[in-house]
Amino acid sequence: MQVAAQQIGQTQTGPTTEATSRQIDWVGSIPFILMHIAALCAFFWEFNSQIFWLVFASYYVRMIAVTAGYHRYFSHRTYKTSRVMQFIIAFMAQTSAQKGALWWAANHRHHHKHSDKEEDLHSPEKHGFWWAQVGWIMSPCSVPTQWKWIQDFAKYPELVWLNKYHLVPPTIYAVALWLIFGWAGLFWGFFFSTMLLFHGTFVINSLTHMFGRIRYRSGDGSRNSFLLALITCGEGWHNNHHYYQATANQGWFWWEIDLSYYTLKVASWLGLVWDLRKPPAHIKAKTIAAESKPAAA
Ligand SMILES: [Zn+2]
Ligand SMILES: [Zn+2]
Repeated sequence: MQVAAQQIGQTQTGPTTEATSRQIDWVGSIPFILMHIAALCAFFWEFNSQIFWLVFASYYVRMIAVTAGYHRYFSHRTYKTSRVMQFIIAFMAQTSAQKGALWWAANHRHHHKHSDKEEDLHSPEKHGFWWAQVGWIMSPCSVPTQWKWIQDFAKYPELVWLNKYHLVPPTIYAVALWLIFGWAGLFWGFFFSTMLLFHGTFVINSLTHMFGRIRYRSGDGSRNSFLLALITCGEGWHNNHHYYQATANQGWFWWEIDLSYYTLKVASWLGLVWDLRKPPAHIKAKTIAAESKPAAA
């Protein structure tokens, strides 16, 4: 294992110099820790029904931006949009404070390439739940943008700028909430909601590779979970996604709720996005259950 990790570090075939990075960088993680402390400080302000809906909307609108933007557009190119709209999508996703769209997508492409292998940045199977949930984010391995994985989008200077100044969107969003809703709006609507959004997103790296049902042989530990799909606007259908990544929808059947896809569908009716890719019927049919059925006579 050590040898494999060293090879990655030396050859730069994956995110970083991983050989030395499976440890927490406590100093470098101070902003991440402070975000959690600020989230807990929200309890110093009154919580009422208006604040509840603010937290709810701030979470779900940005979760859709994270999943439909960072994940389904920048990581997997599952639909098309205009150059202006892709900048807006990146900006909205980055209000989540999960760094630049190019950073996020590059790491995610690496995850699919090495899913649940030793090189995987956040495999709970290989490195445990806490590492998959937050450990890798607090380690040096998560710091640089791995440009070799995201060259297709790196040709847009405005995206490279936004990736470099990734704190601009969350700062503007936080200030706007403060101006409109005051201190309670800032602490509940930004810090608390962003902390929920962090962990709502990160359970896709951890829990969806641990709990749920396996429908397809994806060659890794990915699973489908209805509950996690509700929390993550459709990303809980992770076994579907790992089996066939090129689809704008991750819920492939009518009962597989996928709020991000419904949003993309509405955006397509408005002409904001187009060419939403869906799974071919023969892919959907290749379930493990279908494989194990005896062939028809
Ligand atoms: Zn993915
Ligand atoms: Zn995964």
